[in-house]
Amino acid sequence: MTENNVYVTRPFISDPDLISQKIAEVLKSGQLTNNGPKVVEFENALASKLDVEHLSVFTNGTLALMIALKALDLTGEVITTPFTFAATVHALQWLGLTPVFCDIDPESMCIDPTKIEQLITPRTSAILGVHVFGFPCDVEAIENIAERHGVKVVYDGAHSLLTQFKGRSLSHYGDITMHSFHATKLLNSLEGGALIFKSAEMKEKSFLLNNFGIRGEENIFLPGLNAKMNEVQALVGIENLKQLHSEIEKRDIVYRKYSELLGNVDGIRIPQQPACSSHSYQYFPIIVADGRRDVIHSALKEAGIHARKYFYPLLSNIETYSNLPSARRELLKVANDISDSVLCLPYFGELDEETVVKICNVIKNA
Ligand SMILES: *Cc1c(COP(=O)(O)O)cnc(C)c1O
Repeated sequence: MTENNVYVTRPFISDPDLISQKIAEVLKSGQLTNNGPKVVEFENALASKLDVEHLSVFTNGTLALMIALKALDLTGEVITTPFTFAATVHALQWLGLTPVFCDIDPESMCIDPTKIEQLITPRTSAILGVHVFGFPCDVEAIENIAERHGVKVVYDGAHSLLTQFKGRSLSHYGDITMHSFHATKLLNSLEGGALIFKSAEMKEKSFLLNNFGIRGEENIFLPGLNAKMNEVQALVGIENLKQLHSEIEKRDIVYRKYSELLGNVDGIRIPQQPACSSHSYQYFPIIVADGRRDVIHSALKEAGIHARKYFYPLLSNIETYSNLPSARRELLKVANDISDSVLCLPYFGELDEETVVKICNVIKNA
């Protein structure tokens, strides 16, 4: 990282000096991990913030997602989206599940519920949706399909921590929702993740899976994993969560400025949240028409501005998954189009107005 470059995001750390001092206290406390007091406090703070009942934290979002899939005993095929970060589909692959790609909706960029049912077979055990850039999946349509076919629903909510849907947290939907607290996410605990469960039983089972399947001193129930969050991560998460409102206020200003400057530019579309949901303040994606995405990406790069092509390449086009029958381009037309035309602009609280103006000018003149 050099000083004059602008990256797609910048980690939010509420108060580095205060956090350093509190880390020293944790280091002297004698408990560094294994469900310590900071982990419990972080879980309580998050559950209260989201107004959910059953929540656990993990060392990162990817392992949390793997534990979610394991806790639900999924088998066979899982219907998912190719328009996501690699971790979503890799988690299925690690569990020996077959990803079945479903095309996406052009507005929300999330899995298209009208195309899910035709992909359901006797081997289908779940639908894994992603609330891409914090835009909500059509959770009600998906719930309806899942109930009719007796399959589970899991959401990758790595971008949707604070998205409200019809007046409450979007994380209430699905059997399990995952969140990520990676350094690049709106809220970070350096690395970290969480699961929100519909049932207490699933939370209980994932607790075991997160601790080698061991409970007590002498009982080993399941072939578990270790994905425990440590006390320093939890502390950073707690302190950042306390001040997250200030980061959101700043991101809101950046969002408005971009919208003002790019809202009426020919060939640029700014995807909008549906009226029933709130902004997630995680990314600022634009959709560029006429195959000019790469031109704009390069022009920005020349100016030291590192916008990112999230999500390109499409996962159905990478070698690991391109041989799947569901990966064929003609079946995933919208996802391929969006992946070829999307660009995520730099978006973080400390991004100043002058830089936003510069970015928008480069885009307009490219
Ligand atoms: C960041 C991210 C993940 C992975 O989360 P980690 O905490 O980095 O493991 C998964 N899915 C999506 C969509 C993400 O953006």
